Amino acid sequence: MLVVMQHGATADQVQRVVETIGDMGYQARPMPGAQRTAIGLVGNDGLVDASRLAPPPGAKEVIHLTHPYKQVSREWKAENTVVRLPGGLAVGGDQVVVMAGPCSVEAEEQILASARAVREAGAAILRGGAFKPRSSPYTFQGLGLKGLKLLAKAREETGLLVVTEAMDIEGVAAVEEHAVILCERGVRGFDSNTTRNVFDVSAIAVVHELSHLPIIADPSHATGRRDKVIPMARAAVAAGADGILVEGHPQPARAPADRGQSLYPHQFPNLI
Ligand code: MN
Repeated sequence: MLVVMQHGATADQVQRVVETIGDMGYQARPMPGAQRTAIGLVGNDGLVDASRLAPPPGAKEVIHLTHPYKQVSREWKAENTVVRLPGGLAVGGDQVVVMAGPCSVEAEEQILASARAVREAGAAILRGGAFKPRSSPYTFQGLGLKGLKLLAKAREETGLLVVTEAMDIEGVAAVEEHAVILCERGVRGFDSNTTRNVFDVSAIAVVHELSHLPIIADPSHATGRRDKVIPMARAAVAAGADGILVEGHPQPARAPADRGQSLYPHQFPNLI
């Protein structure tokens, strides 16, 4: 639920709504906007009895949100969310942000060569997985902490930002120390062969309309084929993606995973 305050509502009036929501047993999230303040209500399971709030002094309207994704919805926040990164980079603004690099961090030489190719092509962010849980315990599981340290080294050498995945709560602290962007993996414990998605470009436009969050498209895992990565990256950006996450490897044939979809370094400039 969202309580939209009148233009010019006082801080006291906003505070009173926040307190009433607290008294009702929910949490209040005030969101000051350019035109007016809205106060989100979270912690409810189903419809909230808004009789205590209607109409609170200074409030214009009370909107009931029924989506399961209310905090990321446009009703909750109308303006695009722009995620600002070090170095003046922003995700969700006017720039298209390209994140590129290997599926996994394998060795120092491999990640440094990847990072140099990414930087030379003009991308700003290096990707690389340190934790790679796979369906078979016999396949490469990633270098773990050592992989994170190598990513940090590549970051220091090239000045690129780093995006990588954390698998669990314990991993988050370690990743935070070495990487700039944290990425939560949606599907755990499977090779990308088994999690291959249908790359529905129209979903990008649909989600943009429903949500204020930036969208990053992954044409590598979505298509699984090197020759389709650049055309689908272009399609994603045309549909409104704020950035793309692409796999590339200095020697794709030697990659422990996802070799068929990894771009060759000489393809990076074309991608950009
Ligand atoms: Mn991969």
